[in-house]
Amino acid sequence: MPRVNRQDINKIIFDNFNDTDIRFSNDEIMYHLKQLESYKELDDVLEIEDVLLEMEKSGMLRPIAQNFNTRYYRLWNILEQASCKECSWLCYFGKSDEGKACTQCGAKM
Ligand SMILES: [Zn+2]
Repeated sequence: MPRVNRQDINKIIFDNFNDTDIRFSNDEIMYHLKQLESYKELDDVLEIEDVLLEMEKSGMLRPIAQNFNTRYYRLWNILEQASCKECSWLCYFGKSDEGKACTQCGAKM
């Protein structure tokens, strides 16, 4: 099972939950991940738990409730979309993401 790329989760949040008033869950993130070809094999929300925990620790996700394996979040700050000056790749960053670099070519953003 490939480790889930944090940038892919950033994009899902940007596209679907990019508002500090919206509550969303790990199940919803999982649902959107499974729409992507590379993650359709995911079948347990625990498989993305370590990435989500990192995103909590970094100050992007604000955990607000938990019910068994379902965890609910809000954003501390909305995410921003940035286009790489070198390769035009679209990246998605939270205010708390450090050392922002293009996820395609590695150029500093
Ligand atoms: Zn780039």
